[in-house]
Amino acid sequence: MASYPVTYLAKLGELTLKGGNRKEFEQQLVQNARLYLESVSARVQIRTGRLYIEGTEESSAAIEYTLKRLIGITGWARARVTEKNISSIKEAVFQEAREAADRGAASKEVKSFKIEARRSDKTFPLNSYELAAEAAEPVYEQKLLAVDVHNPDLVIRVEVREQCYVYSDGIRACRGLPVGTGGKGLLLLSGGLDSPVAGYRMARRGMKIDCVYFHAYPYTSAEARKKVEDLAAVISGYSINTRLNIIPFTPVQMRIRERAPEAFTTLLLRMCMMKAASMTAERIGAKCLITGESLGQVASQTVENMAVTEAASEYPLLRPLVGLDKEEIILTAKEIGSYDISILPYEDCCVLFSPRHPVLRASVEEAMELYRALEAEELIAEAFAQREVMRFSVRDYVADTWGREPLNKS
Ligand code: ATP
Ligand code: MG
Repeated sequence: MASYPVTYLAKLGELTLKGGNRKEFEQQLVQNARLYLESVSARVQIRTGRLYIEGTEESSAAIEYTLKRLIGITGWARARVTEKNISSIKEAVFQEAREAADRGAASKEVKSFKIEARRSDKTFPLNSYELAAEAAEPVYEQKLLAVDVHNPDLVIRVEVREQCYVYSDGIRACRGLPVGTGGKGLLLLSGGLDSPVAGYRMARRGMKIDCVYFHAYPYTSAEARKKVEDLAAVISGYSINTRLNIIPFTPVQMRIRERAPEAFTTLLLRMCMMKAASMTAERIGAKCLITGESLGQVASQTVENMAVTEAASEYPLLRPLVGLDKEEIILTAKEIGSYDISILPYEDCCVLFSPRHPVLRASVEEAMELYRALEAEELIAEAFAQREVMRFSVRDYVADTWGREPLNKS
């Protein structure tokens, strides 16, 4: 029997609003957490509406990595686990308060507290109210923090179950719905700031994300490709497993350069990408395409030109960033860890082939006619056939980083 001295508790997010199928959402959440932690010694369960992850001190870094990325929880905390007697509980509460006071000391942030106690073990001799009152005593008697039941700086929670758990307000998590409950989407991933954020946003709606990247070697460098691979790895931190399809698109770009009016080159390239992405989606069972487009950001992202791109796609085209501005996108990019990779300087293929005066408001009919004149379908099919598929798995990442401890599973 393995022993698990370290316990983390996480609050479930939006899935608690689900009715009859709530169980399925919970099961998916547990399964996802287990995938992250497959290679380390940890136990994952949902009990009475909370996610519990128990592990050893050695697995705590992997568990915290998981909780920072696991979609479907609103917050988490590391709990002190004590015996079910009031003196152990008092001591745990006091330590919790002292740590919080120390953390907040510099900024004088934490001066008051309250205790919220819950007792699911009704044989425990004190009721919730009495428990909260007694457990708080040492903290205010020793003038560590003052009691404030209305507007406290710190809430310490005490839960008496099969053991007793003491913890305070948690670290905010990703929220959203567990990945895998919302079907699969194919993200058009370029090296820029926007598309990784778009993928993350859809993962937070429960979608499993696979990626496709159009590479135009030698016009785009090996470094540009490496950047996209690194971004796919960031996405796998949230989507758990991600496959990156790399499609060699140079011949298609050359055809566009030969046959299309300069003002239309970017738009036609987008249309060709949509065609190849649709073929990829069909192959992998994705139900939609996802891009990082945001209204008005560049010439190809006017509403008229979006209609053109859309007409070339055979799947619903989702644009989760369409109404966000650059600052909002950057904020999320920093949060998820894609920002530092995205700002590396390597150009993507689209920049190299951009027209000086791109068409701003193309009509679908005109664009379609130019697209047909490219006669590029065969080239696109060849490019698709030559695609390379790379697999990124968060399991492997956790195993490489933290999985070397001796496994201690029961
Ligand atoms: P990003 O920052 O995501 O690169 P962007 O601001 O550079 O976006 P565009 O270059 O117009 O905007 O691209 C719009 C969208 O088209 C991108 O968000 C991405 O989803 C997709 N896209 C562009 N270039 C590529 C590419 N080489 N491979 C895959 N998808 C691409
Ligand atoms: Mg781009």
